[in-house]
Amino acid sequence: MARAKQTKGKCDFCGQEIAKASVVKHLAACASWQAAIAKAEASKRKSEPLYHLRVQAKGQPEFWLNLEMRGSAALKELDHYLREIWLECCGHMSQFSYGGWGGEEISNSCTIGKALEFNDELTHIYDFGTESVSLVKMVGNRKGRPVTSHPITLLVRNIPPVYECKECQQPAAWLCMECVYEDGAMGTLCELHAENHPHEEYGELIPLVNSPRLGLCGYDGPAEPPY
Ligand SMILES: [Zn+2]
Ligand SMILES: [Zn+2]
Ligand SMILES: [Zn+2]
Ligand SMILES: [Zn+2]
Repeated sequence: MARAKQTKGKCDFCGQEIAKASVVKHLAACASWQAAIAKAEASKRKSEPLYHLRVQAKGQPEFWLNLEMRGSAALKELDHYLREIWLECCGHMSQFSYGGWGGEEISNSCTIGKALEFNDELTHIYDFGTESVSLVKMVGNRKGRPVTSHPITLLVRNIPPVYECKECQQPAAWLCMECVYEDGAMGTLCELHAENHPHEEYGELIPLVNSPRLGLCGYDGPAEPPY
């Protein structure tokens, strides 16, 4: 598939575009995020350690997330979140560990607070066949009241990468798996060239959604956060 270059993200609170390396700096100055924190502090939610995580798709720098997670929430909540926003195709097994394959496995019932006591970086593997590997790194923490009632809050997400149509180099919206598998071609198509594309061996064309699992195991989105 065509490699797309996009290292900018969008703040989920103020909507501003931010460089990947400037997220922490942006949030410290983001009026919308700071207002959400102030509002939460005035709420009856319990105060606890909150962890700021950068999730990075291994080998695909254009796919990344910044999340805030309650220290008391179990890793299974993060597994669920990553499946919804990026990964889920057919209910494959997944695993957290320190160091990935061959590393020390961490139970899904372990809280993120406990998991990060020993190491500030975890590896998540989804699907032990056609694997998708996500690196989870703590970039900060604070004590306070969570800004939502959910275990995880989306702070910033990469802007969807722009792919080129393999026929005309215009922005693509679809992916043909037959092109990918049979021809080793990139298989990205614009609306116009998707219309009369001759391939149907591998089913319908797949929408180009914002996920590092595109093109793997028939993944077809929707790549939306669970809440
Ligand atoms: Zn912002
Ligand atoms: Zn699958
Ligand atoms: Zn085209
Ligand atoms: Zn095709």
